[in-house]
Amino acid sequence: MKPTSFDYIAPSTLGEAVALLADEEREAKVVAGGQSLIPMLNMRLARPEVLVDITRIPELGGIHVDETGSLRIGAAVRQARAAADIAVRDGWPLLAAAVEHIGHPQIRNRGTVCGSLAHHDPAAELPAAALALDARFVITGPRGTRTVDAGDFFVATFSTAVETDELLTEVVFPPRPAGHGWAFDELTRRHGDFATVGVAVLLERDTGSDTVRDARVVFSGAAPVPVRLPSAEAALVGSDAGEQARAAAAGAALAGLSPSDDIHATAEYRREGAAHLLVRACTTAWERC
Ligand SMILES: Cc1cc2nc3c(=O)[nH]c(=O)nc-3n(C[C@H](O)[C@H](O)[C@H](O)COP(=O)(O)OP(=O)(O)OC[C@H]3O[C@@H](n4cnc5c(N)ncnc54)[C@H](O)[C@@H]3O)c2cc1C
Repeated sequence: MKPTSFDYIAPSTLGEAVALLADEEREAKVVAGGQSLIPMLNMRLARPEVLVDITRIPELGGIHVDETGSLRIGAAVRQARAAADIAVRDGWPLLAAAVEHIGHPQIRNRGTVCGSLAHHDPAAELPAAALALDARFVITGPRGTRTVDAGDFFVATFSTAVETDELLTEVVFPPRPAGHGWAFDELTRRHGDFATVGVAVLLERDTGSDTVRDARVVFSGAAPVPVRLPSAEAALVGSDAGEQARAAAAGAALAGLSPSDDIHATAEYRREGAAHLLVRACTTAWERC
C-alpha cells in the first residue's frame, strides 16, 4: 500500500518543530529515523497531514556526558551512533548491548534512540534498558519542558508520557558505578527479529564479601510496558550469584511475570523463556562485575 498524502517539513529549530506539532489545524507527527513510522504510513495505520522531520535540528543532534556525569542523548541521534560512542560503551555498556540487539545494521543506521523510546513497542530493547538504567526523559512542547522518570514514561503498548503536541527531546542516563556487571539477552526466532522476550540485568559486587550488593532486573516483551521485578532482584542481593541464587531469581520470574499469548508465543513459553534468559544473563553480568 501507499501512504495517504502528507506535507513534509524539516525545521531547523526546536521552536519551529514545537509550533508545527502544536498547530491545531493540521495533524502533525514527528518523524525521526522513520523505521517504524514509514511502515505504519504505508499500511495506513497512521495518517498524519504533516510529517515533522526532527533530524535536522542541530540542538537535538548531541550525545555527551554532562558535568554531573550523566549521559545525554538528543532526539536526532541514530542508534548505530550511540552504540559506537566510546562514552556509551565505557560507562553504559548495557545500553550499547541493547542497541546492538535491534533489528539489523540498516535499521540501526537510520533509527534513533529516542524514536524507539517514544514509539514504545513492548518487544523493543531500549525501553527495558532505559528502565534498568533509571533513564530520565526530557519532553518539550507548547507548555514548556518537563522531565519524566522511566517508571512513569512507558504508559501502555505504543503509548508514553509524550503528548501529541510534544516531542521527546533528550534521554538522560545517570552515571553507573564503576565496575558494575551487565547483560542484555533475548529470545528471538531469527537473528534480527523483534524479540519474543528479553532481559536486562545489572549487578554490583561487594568486593569485601564477594556478594551481590545491588541488582536490577527488567524484562521486555513480558507485558505492555517493561517490567522491573523486585522479587528477582531480592533473590540476588546478598547472595554469591551462584546456582542457587540464580535459580531463586528464575523462580521469582516464573511466579512474578504475567505475559500474554499472541501469534508469536504462548504466555507459558514467554514465562519459561524469561526465566531461562535471566539465569544466563545473571551469569554473564556477574562475570563482568
Ligand atoms: C525490519 C525492522 C526490524 C526492526 N527490528 C527492531 C528490533 O528488533 N527492536 C526494536 O526495538 N526495534 C526494531 N525496529 C524498529 C526500529 O528500532 C525503529 O528505529 C524505532 O522503533 C523507531 O525509531 P525511529 O527513529 O525510526 O522513529 P520513527 O519511525 O521516525 O518514529 C516512530 C514513532 O515515534 C514517534 N517519534 C519518533 N521520535 C520521536 C521523538 N523524539 N519525540 C516524539 N515522538 C517521536 C513518531 O512520531 C512515530 O510515531 C525494526 C524496524 C524495522 C523496519
